[in-house]
Amino acid sequence: MRILITGGAGFIGSALVRHLVRDVGADVLNVDKLTYAGNQASLKIIENAPNYRFLKADICDGQAMHEAFASFRPDRVMHLAAESHVDRSITGAADFVQTNVMGTFVLLEAARRYWSGLEGEAKADFRFLHVSTDEVYGSLGQDGLFHEQTPYDPSSPYSATKAASDHLAIAWQRTYGLPVVVSNCSNNYGPYHFPEKLIPLIILNALEGRQLPVYGNGANIRDWLYVEDHARALHVIASRGRLGEKYNVGGRNERRNIDVVQRVCAIMDRLSPKPNPHEALITYVTDRPGHDARYAIDATRLETELGWKALENFDSGIEKTVAWYLENRWWWQPLREKVYSGERLGTLGKD
Ligand code: NAD
Repeated sequence: MRILITGGAGFIGSALVRHLVRDVGADVLNVDKLTYAGNQASLKIIENAPNYRFLKADICDGQAMHEAFASFRPDRVMHLAAESHVDRSITGAADFVQTNVMGTFVLLEAARRYWSGLEGEAKADFRFLHVSTDEVYGSLGQDGLFHEQTPYDPSSPYSATKAASDHLAIAWQRTYGLPVVVSNCSNNYGPYHFPEKLIPLIILNALEGRQLPVYGNGANIRDWLYVEDHARALHVIASRGRLGEKYNVGGRNERRNIDVVQRVCAIMDRLSPKPNPHEALITYVTDRPGHDARYAIDATRLETELGWKALENFDSGIEKTVAWYLENRWWWQPLREKVYSGERLGTLGKD
């Protein structure tokens, strides 16, 4: 099985590459532009594996994508490359429109050209998984869950561009017959998460005795999934998901942001004690514009049709995550110093 992955140097992409190279034994070509969010250190464990290759390229570059398809001849594409940070999309949406919308269009066209030239079994077995987010559905009230049929209602420039890319992917299936399947996942957390995102930001700020910024009153609710559970789900959906369909991915782990922050503080009190409890560092800050109140995923279709289940519950996953950051300074210290001063606000989404 030859799998072309885009964005495999990012947070989820690197978990997926590690899973496919080590556990599944697939031949993987990782196509990544290495933006600020791409980090080859996340792939150190598998970088010398004979079934792993890396190509530094922009998915918006049609010629480069065409050549990647022609030379690697994938059986499958798993498309994760994106601009993914909501706060950055609010202050600079252009890169999001370019990569998330144009880049997905360019990649779909390169895939279509390649797939059109295939024959027989190779053509019948080819699959394109477009990886997306639950943020395309907008915000929930106190009750209810996002289903695959929930109408799209994105709030941020990030989620609007992801919604557009989902529509492109489904349209390429309906119009051209390209064998596309789409996944929409809730907030991920776990090791190798870029230090501008909520959970690593809170862990590292707490470690350094800095303020722990919480948007608004901290009551926004997210549905958290351990990143390795997501990687397994993506492999299952790409392998056996019905073409032209969408699959919601989530771990049934709804938490208020303030509860997540307090949980991290309690673990830090145990693993890295300070004279004052870490909770004293929590600082409420002005809410993000367009901040969705609640996300929660109904993953029944994925669970019943494809037999996937989240293996990690939030309490064990967050414990493992905090411990990982404390033990892997080599990974995050250079990012924290070079890219991120530690004073900027983190976000409270997947963002
Ligand atoms: P990330 O920001 O950590 O990684 C994105 C990767 O894409 C980086 O390696 C970056 O270098 C690469 N990239 C960006 N622009 C590119 C371009 N033009 N060409 C080639 N590579 C490019 O993102 P992530 O959190 O790992 O998310 C991966 C995917 O999953 C995204 O599509 C995102 O929308 C989706 N998603 C994320 C979450 C979450 O909680 N993080 C949840 C659901 C869905």
